[in-house]
Amino acid sequence: MSVKSDIEIAREAEKRPIQEIGAKLGIPEADLVPYGHDKAKVSQAFISGLKDRPNGKLILVTAINPTPAGEGKTTTTVGLGDGLNAIGKKAAICIREASLGPCFGMKGGAAGGGYAQVIPMEEMNLHFTGDFHAITSAHNLLSAMIDNHIYWGNALGIDERRITWRRVMDMNDRALRDTVVGLGGVANGFSRQTGFDITVASEVMAILCLATDLADLEARLGRIIVAYTREREPITCADIGASGAMTVLLKDAMQPNLVQTLEHNPAFVHGGPFANIAHGCNSVIATTTALKLADYVVTEAGFGADLGAEKFMNIKCRKAGLAPDCVVLVATVRAMKMNGGVAKADLGPENVAAVKKGCANLGRHIENLKSFGVPVVVAINHFTSDTEAEIAAVQAYVAQHGSEAIVCRHWADGSRGIEALARRVAEVADGKSAQFAPLYEDDMPLFQKIETIATRIYRADEVLADKKVRDQLHAWEAAGFGNLPVCMAKTQYSFSTDPALRGAPSGHSVPIREVRLSAGAGFVVAICGEIMTMPGLPRHPAAETIGINDAGEIEGLF
Ligand code: ADP
Ligand code: MG
Repeated sequence: MSVKSDIEIAREAEKRPIQEIGAKLGIPEADLVPYGHDKAKVSQAFISGLKDRPNGKLILVTAINPTPAGEGKTTTTVGLGDGLNAIGKKAAICIREASLGPCFGMKGGAAGGGYAQVIPMEEMNLHFTGDFHAITSAHNLLSAMIDNHIYWGNALGIDERRITWRRVMDMNDRALRDTVVGLGGVANGFSRQTGFDITVASEVMAILCLATDLADLEARLGRIIVAYTREREPITCADIGASGAMTVLLKDAMQPNLVQTLEHNPAFVHGGPFANIAHGCNSVIATTTALKLADYVVTEAGFGADLGAEKFMNIKCRKAGLAPDCVVLVATVRAMKMNGGVAKADLGPENVAAVKKGCANLGRHIENLKSFGVPVVVAINHFTSDTEAEIAAVQAYVAQHGSEAIVCRHWADGSRGIEALARRVAEVADGKSAQFAPLYEDDMPLFQKIETIATRIYRADEVLADKKVRDQLHAWEAAGFGNLPVCMAKTQYSFSTDPALRGAPSGHSVPIREVRLSAGAGFVVAICGEIMTMPGLPRHPAAETIGINDAGEIEGLF
């Protein structure tokens, strides 16, 4: 039997008019701003009117440390949303938008997979409703205004060597990582070294995803620190005078996008910040809107639970006043095997011993998530190669760790394959057993926040940082930024800072190479190791096989 590709399944799907999907959530047609027939933005006016409604239950989907074997968080988020609707619950999902960089780089979409997908997947993976273009424009407007300010006399006294605001583009393009601007003579300004990041790494993206409304968006944009003077005084976006115009460019992008799943259930797809130097979840406005309109909202956090769920809890939930009612931890038998030391090429044959060994990674995540006071249900995302004995080994392990693991076949069977998980998750969320609390208090010193995450979540013994890093943190505390949460930029592949160290390592040290202040987004970034903010394309980018076929359909998108 030949397995259909994600895009074939998505293309064959019958799509309902977006007004019908909006109606499922009680959104009047007049409050949907359609982008074609099957995508719409939800109007700001409608969202403002929802404030006094009660919230539905919030369900976070996260995963073990990712391996090249693939875990399927988005697939499970979409599947669980469909599963909850299939058992008669009113549920919506919230996921991130896709970046063009990975889309043309490595294979792998952002709309889920198999029979658990969001459609139209081609558009969602390409220009969609133009949000990323708007973010790119807003970001680069500020860049242009900074150079323009210097050109016209530099009244603010910006030290041209201390401009931290770069330019962005939504493409993987390593040639732009380091550039010189202002070449070509007096008329072109002052030459200086700078560079490009990918749009999803822009602080504007993180801000859009954390802002509660347009006024909050503008205030946050104004607080972005773009440069320093010779005396090391910060220059902000508000000083440059750009925040009003940037807000205008972002006005439509702030409104969450509504699309549908293959089973015609509502899906909000909005925002897409990096999960390393930013917090890696869809927008606060999409999540809070969904919570007002549905009884259950299923959402996803990027990377493994050590990064994604930790930031979801400590940054997004803290800042937006949200509290998850249940966490679904996605695991796969294949990933357990890889965590147990099996190479990707050897994943085919049954290997119960390796599965058991790899379960240590899963166990660590269960413990960590419970330490936030939230109940955890493990979803075994079923692959056709999984054997009964391997699945039983995972289930037995999880049972020993005070949780339960439910096999889900949504990738192959859609909602039918995930009803057991949906029932259990609804029961747990309704049971109100969650007593969510972030890991640290706002007033804890910044370095201690980093240590708390490193020791409690990564199980490291110590955090290593130069005097330069510590002094910088103290300086920010003195400047009034001490109450911000910390955003860890670490490899997603391990609890440690060594991507090759799988399983459940402990006793390692976490070196902090650099710290950055995202004053507008409202967090301090702690960078452990090399973090790429402008990815490159692989030797054979996916773009080589993407094209339009004779039927006028897009080919090669996964
Ligand atoms: P994540 O959100 O964790 O990055 P995705 O849900 O996007 O992962 O899935 C990554 C890829 O793996 C997708 O192409 C999807 O089709 C595939 N996939 C997910 N679950 C399964 C499964 N059970 N069997 C086969 N392929 C799967
Ligand atoms: Mg995903």
